[in-house]
Amino acid sequence: SDTAIADFGLIGLAVMGQNLVLNIADHGFTVVAYNRTVEKVDRFLANEAKGKNVIGAHSVEELCRKLKRPRKIMLLVKAGKAVDDFIEQIIPHIEPGDIIIDGGNSHFPDSIRRAKYLEEKGFLFVGCGVSGGEEGARYGPSLMPGGSPAAWPHVKPIFQAICAKADSEPCCDWVGETGAGHYVKMVHNGIEYGDMQLICEAYHIMKEGLHLGSDEIADAFAEWNKGDLDSFLIEITRDIMKFKDADGTPLVEKIKDMAGQKGTGKWTAISALDLGIPVTLIGEAVFARTLSALKSERVRASKILSGPKRSGHQAEIDKTEFLSKLGQALYASKLVSYAQGFMLMREAAKEYNWNLNNAGIALMWRGGCIIRSAFLGKIKEAYTNDTKLENLLFDPFFKNAVDKAQSSWRYVISQAILMGIPIPAFSTALAFYDGYRHAKLPANLLQAQRDYFGAHTFRYLDEYTDDKHPKDRDV
Ligand code: NAP
Repeated sequence: SDTAIADFGLIGLAVMGQNLVLNIADHGFTVVAYNRTVEKVDRFLANEAKGKNVIGAHSVEELCRKLKRPRKIMLLVKAGKAVDDFIEQIIPHIEPGDIIIDGGNSHFPDSIRRAKYLEEKGFLFVGCGVSGGEEGARYGPSLMPGGSPAAWPHVKPIFQAICAKADSEPCCDWVGETGAGHYVKMVHNGIEYGDMQLICEAYHIMKEGLHLGSDEIADAFAEWNKGDLDSFLIEITRDIMKFKDADGTPLVEKIKDMAGQKGTGKWTAISALDLGIPVTLIGEAVFARTLSALKSERVRASKILSGPKRSGHQAEIDKTEFLSKLGQALYASKLVSYAQGFMLMREAAKEYNWNLNNAGIALMWRGGCIIRSAFLGKIKEAYTNDTKLENLLFDPFFKNAVDKAQSSWRYVISQAILMGIPIPAFSTALAFYDGYRHAKLPANLLQAQRDYFGAHTFRYLDEYTDDKHPKDRDV
């Protein structure tokens, strides 16, 4: 009908929704917008959206009526019940083939459920991870859409127009079926936890081990940002280290050392435990936040528990040389974290029947999102060169990089341990690497122990066994 003039519908006019509407409108699409609190629609149209290709709707029915078919309706509302409530409100006003997109931070099992529910009714569902925060939503987010494959050709032109670009390629591609988009977004956030923790440990070593001041630490991050570690998180850390409070001293040193979290790192770690994949670095990053949160208990412990005796060997450390080694250690640890993340996604793909495209995932993370980095370009190359690559660590470029970094990596970790500086993420990365490269681990003894006390029985070394799904591997 002549009222169906909009290309895209968006529900949820908080900061993310408003910015995404403006971004879509800037790219030549007409957007119809709705919000539960309807006054926000009129306020938005009269202010931020004034003069743009945006029309308002005062009901879900009106929004659906104003959309061209197949309708594309994106929800950017609080994750959880609000999403299910809106889906129920939309259903009476749409027709088979229409598309409901959830762009919030939904937990992937909800997206699996919603995809099934809507597909059974003849509708299409897209669970889309959105990263890059408010800036990203406005000027180019990383978008990770998954769900009903038939929806992709319809949303692709809009999503690939509005998303971030890396080396002029769009940071948005089809991820996979049902909840795959939100799963990949969850792993992205888990990896973000890991990257941040690694950077914090490097800072701790520089501060407590090398006694560097914040400007010197900023210089180290600035230097790393020019090389293999070039990334958004290293860049903002450089700026944070330089930032002075009104009294001229570094602000970062005045911030209480208690980390918060919203739960996506925890979800990643829980999924890793459920699927039996050793995603140790993200797990340690989540635990490091929880340990930091025990501030008053740590203050008491600091007065009771002793660390190593300061032997004075720190004085012998050449700071420039140590910093170069620290950069190598950071790089190798980060590589292990990404290798673990891709191992997890591979297992999830098996478990939930998704066809995940690893090179595409690396490209989606290459720009627009919090973990964006030059390094992800290399990961994309690795999976493009060998689409069946079993592990990132087997890629010739990365294998070489670890070989080159290895002695520095071991040196930095051993020095930090001798100095009593906690480095859970650095050290678990190395422990994983050493475990993964061992054809034989001491689990033979473990099986003997289990058999001794519980008659769990064991297998002989020469007995043929294929690697089963780890969680079913019990005998
Ligand atoms: P938000 O604070 O998570 O949600 C506010 C929006 O949800 C408002 O439009 C609000 O409507 C609506 N809402 C809340 N509860 C509702 C309910 N029970 N029924 C109907 N509507 C309800 O907004 P946001 O920060 O813009 O984030 C939107 C989504 O994007 C979230 O899932 C968030 O996790 C995700 N996300 C956020 C960021 C970020 O940087 N902020 C980044 C990526 C993803 P009213 O105006 O009527 O209250």
